[in-house]
Amino acid sequence: MSRLVMKFGGTSVANIERIRNVARHVKRETDAGHDVAVVVSAMSGKTDELVGWVREAAPLYDASEYDAIVASGELVTAGLLAIVLKDMGLKARSWQGWQIPLHTDDAHGAARIVGVDGSKIIARFADREIAVVAGFQGLHAASGRVTTLGRGGSDTSAVALAAAINADRCDIYTDVDGVYTTDPRVVPRARRLERVAFEEMLEMASLGAKVLQVRSVEVAMVHKVKLIVRSSFDDPADPKLGTLICDEEDIVESQVVTGIAFSKDEAQITLRRVADKPGVAAAIFMPLAEANINVDMIIQVVSDDTTTTDITFTVPAAEYARAKAILEERRGQINYALLQGAQDVVKVSAIGIGMRSHSGVAARAFKALAEKGVNIRAITTSEIKFSVLIDAAYTELAVRTLHSLYGLDAAI
Ligand code: ASP
Ligand code: MG
Repeated sequence: MSRLVMKFGGTSVANIERIRNVARHVKRETDAGHDVAVVVSAMSGKTDELVGWVREAAPLYDASEYDAIVASGELVTAGLLAIVLKDMGLKARSWQGWQIPLHTDDAHGAARIVGVDGSKIIARFADREIAVVAGFQGLHAASGRVTTLGRGGSDTSAVALAAAINADRCDIYTDVDGVYTTDPRVVPRARRLERVAFEEMLEMASLGAKVLQVRSVEVAMVHKVKLIVRSSFDDPADPKLGTLICDEEDIVESQVVTGIAFSKDEAQITLRRVADKPGVAAAIFMPLAEANINVDMIIQVVSDDTTTTDITFTVPAAEYARAKAILEERRGQINYALLQGAQDVVKVSAIGIGMRSHSGVAARAFKALAEKGVNIRAITTSEIKFSVLIDAAYTELAVRTLHSLYGLDAAI
């Protein structure tokens, strides 16, 4: 008999009627003979509300209490779904993270899973009992405290559970019917992808696609969990296939570029006329690293006189003020003439495993963007992606231009 993990996000469990709809999807799979573990998120908006209360209570709150509070949203939906399933005549029970247990480290608010014990859930499959698991939460065993896995963490709970119970598949049900070539709200001709390689999905998620938590893709890749993204709003009696996230070898026809992602979550910092000598980059980036600020794109310009240079880089928008303060504090040591910043920037990226074997992929984009009058502020490339930093006002134009350029537009 095959085992299945079915994960439902916040919009899919937003109210009791939708929870009933979720239960119909679950019933279909159990009726087909699968052993099922369901992982649920909190009702949509619930986690935001809880986080808001925590912040209102005290600006410098205790992170372990934060977790105790925000984990409660998932407890409610797990219990409700179990009740609805039982009401439909199925065997089910809810599981909280600590009951499984799903073990994590103690990084409250963004804990990492260190191990999941699937044995109790598996034992109950013998009795055809459906496990309804509260996503997003775990247990730090040494302190005995509840932890959470970071926003969007239920995806990771589902994938880790699938690995632990050796599930044949992990279906991520959401409010869209799969992974798209880009955000359909920006490009109406975006297409649903049949298959995406793990590595591509990892880049897409890291570079701004919101459909899966990045960590969940990492876990799926490491444990080779067969992952499907599909819609919970399909008729439970007539389910559609969605997008399969799989190994590169399982991609039959691959395109050079698979998707275009964008992220407005970036801010640019430029240091003008920094001394052009060894140790300067370290003097800038070490203090930022020590403050846990993640620097992404970096460009250094060698100036004519070769005594000074300009360095531009990006940091997460939320860290912009902190990064600026750190650099201003060290102005004397770093010795730059001017610090300039920009927050109205966006990073647009093209991703595809086909880039490994094709040259000139990024060059074509630079040309196409130039023809549209889009100025590029910074560029980074890696084996299977490239990113450009541009003014936020050009987001739609740039995404559409690249989407067409690489032949991703759906035929009409
Ligand atoms: N409810 C949590 C959040 O909103 C976890 C999740 O939905 O995956 O971040
Ligand atoms: Mg989510």
